[in-house]
Amino acid sequence: MGNSRIFKSLNAADLASWMAERGEKQFRVRQVLDWIYAKRCSSFAEMSNIPPELRTALADAFLIPVLSNIRCLGSADTTRKFLFQLRDGQLIESVLMPASPALYGDRSARVTACLSSQVGCAYGCKFCASGLNGWKRNLEAGEIVDQLMLLEQVSSQRVHNVVFMGMGEPFANFSNLMKAIEILNAAWGMGVGARHMTVSTSGLVPQIRQFAESPFQVRLAISLHAASDSVRDKIMPINRRYPLADLLNALDYCRLRKKQRITFEYILIKGVNDGLDQAALLVNHARRLGAKVNLIPYNTVYGLPWQRPTAYEQKMFFRCLEDGGIPVTLRKEKGHDIAAACGQLRLQQAS
Ligand code: SAH
Ligand code: SF4
Repeated sequence: MGNSRIFKSLNAADLASWMAERGEKQFRVRQVLDWIYAKRCSSFAEMSNIPPELRTALADAFLIPVLSNIRCLGSADTTRKFLFQLRDGQLIESVLMPASPALYGDRSARVTACLSSQVGCAYGCKFCASGLNGWKRNLEAGEIVDQLMLLEQVSSQRVHNVVFMGMGEPFANFSNLMKAIEILNAAWGMGVGARHMTVSTSGLVPQIRQFAESPFQVRLAISLHAASDSVRDKIMPINRRYPLADLLNALDYCRLRKKQRITFEYILIKGVNDGLDQAALLVNHARRLGAKVNLIPYNTVYGLPWQRPTAYEQKMFFRCLEDGGIPVTLRKEKGHDIAAACGQLRLQQAS
């Protein structure tokens, strides 16, 4: 394996220049991509219409699969969570969810994959398991793409929606993320519609602006989790670097550039951010941006003191948004019992 590069980190142009450097014909690019993404071939040796010398050269230069499935929790008709191992032994989590009306309305009764973008996370939100062991490294584009391929392989299902809500902060790994999005979206690649992909960020303002300028009509979800700086400062350290006013300005800009509606993710944590004063402020922010709101009852993380509010309290918060005319969903629990919030499974494995 030595210095081998990850094949699925290449886009068609990268492969074309590799072929050109070797003096190969350009139609080989299509042939090889077809073997990998349409036929799901996992070894160059099987590529029967490629000359043997080229197959050997490809095998010397590139690795095809780079992840292995080491654990799965949950059953096929509910949320399934997978622990995948990278070549250096690091662990990441990927999740497969059945129809997800909370994210896509009822237009899309289809399977959603939740992908990781980093090993661990450096942003240290107080409620989140992903940050507890700190940040280890960025994922390469091919390691992001391979999560989807392995999920489809182990489930024998075609995935139609992708959300970057697994471990890590996608915008802190911006160029690899955008490369992965290109490969996931490409007709020669995984063929996932741009509007069927959602990137979730804790609010990295410069990257939100950069994302606004990208050509893809990928959706954006913001992990807001508080509607005032005083509350957000307490639970999300990023808010001290990019306070709400800056974040909302960047989102105004994004809205000018993108057709897709922005989503605010809002975890309800008992006694922390579930007051109706926060709900009233959230109505203002959502109205300003034409955003919709996903309310998520907090998923308990072992070792952290936070709890979810009662069903009644959740409902009161929900009503406040509904009465304010905001499109809002209260996410029904999926996979609470399988440690479905990001980072929890890896944490269990480590302990
Ligand atoms: N770093 C990015 C994407 C990954 S987190 C972000 O923060 O947006 C994906 C979502 O899971 C985020 O909205 C995050 O706040 C949420 N989350 C983290 N811990 C959670 C928990 N214990 N219960 C419910 N949601 C949680
Ligand atoms: Fe990182 Fe997102 Fe978890 Fe915050 S919520 S620690 S940004 S993964």
